[in-house]
Amino acid sequence: MNIFDCIVIGAGPAGMSASLTLGRARRKIAIFDDGTNRNRVTQESHGFITRDGITPHEFKEIGISELRRYPSISFYKTTIIDIEKSENSKLFTVETSDKQKFHAEKILLATGVQEEFSVPNIKEYYGKSLFSCPYCDGWELRDQPLVVIANSEEHALHMAKLVFNWSNDLIVLTNGAKLSLVGANELIQRNIKVLTESIKSLQGENGVLKGIELASGEIIPRTGGFVVPSFYRPNKFAERLKCEFGENGEVVTDGNGRTTQKGVYIGGEMEKGGPSSLMFAVADGSKAAFSINTDITVERF
Ligand SMILES: Cc1cc2nc3c(=O)[nH]c(=O)nc-3n(C[C@H](O)[C@H](O)[C@H](O)COP(=O)(O)OP(=O)(O)OC[C@H]3O[C@@H](n4cnc5c(N)ncnc54)[C@H](O)[C@@H]3O)c2cc1C
Repeated sequence: MNIFDCIVIGAGPAGMSASLTLGRARRKIAIFDDGTNRNRVTQESHGFITRDGITPHEFKEIGISELRRYPSISFYKTTIIDIEKSENSKLFTVETSDKQKFHAEKILLATGVQEEFSVPNIKEYYGKSLFSCPYCDGWELRDQPLVVIANSEEHALHMAKLVFNWSNDLIVLTNGAKLSLVGANELIQRNIKVLTESIKSLQGENGVLKGIELASGEIIPRTGGFVVPSFYRPNKFAERLKCEFGENGEVVTDGNGRTTQKGVYIGGEMEKGGPSSLMFAVADGSKAAFSINTDITVERF
């Protein structure tokens, strides 16, 4: 039988750091990953001390190779499609897309989030010329003619103010959303142009942005920029396991990765339902692992 102390779903920074902590604590771990991490579209990850500029692929390879040093950790490259726990069982059962079943006392959900965009063909440029996190990619775009694409006043103001630190040659496009006079003035005072017209398409080659075509046919020349997408959890595992949710749809936790459901833990971007960073995700995963190991220790001692 495939019985483990803990099953970790997702080998992003959160899942890998949790598995490392648990493996080193001599726990028997199965970690699953299907390669759908949202940062796979980019060539360089920045800001992770000791690994600044590494490719997401290499980051994962190094992580998995470190996990392989611990005999109690098993890594599976496959998709988990379901998790369940019957009332009279101590064990959760997870099922893979190739119909294998694995069982564990504890489950760590670390499957990240995904983006949804309202602009046509933006995915051709996302991760190459357009990004969502200035802390991650602002340095590489510094002093360039940049666009901020955000379709709400709150997001437009927040992102434009932040990005202004890296380049003051900025144009804000709201793709059809209106801005209040007060909001627009805050930007205009800094010589930031605000255009509320719908975006027809992005133009360039091989992900290198050259301009943005508006509905009117006007082309705004820009070499890169930042976009504010919507974020969503890519599965219903937390719902399936009857975790509690907060008013903004976030999974309720104790701040250390424990959900309200006994035996179910959560870490990384999946916990918040929104974006963070490699560093934050690693810390979240590690925190959840400390909780998992503490709970196993107390329950079994
Ligand atoms: C374009 C872009 C650039 C970025 N650049 C940076 C940067 O420079 N610096 C930085 O710090 N951060 C950067 N980030 C953010 C960073 O990638 C995330 O904050 C971080 O990866 C979140 O870690 P996580 O472990 O929570 O989730 P993820 O890294 O998304 O990992 C989740 C994992 O779960 C797996 N998974 C999902 N569902 C299943 C399933 N059903 N079965 C099996 N496996 C599953 C996926 O394959 C994935 O590997 C960037 C993000 C993007 C999109």
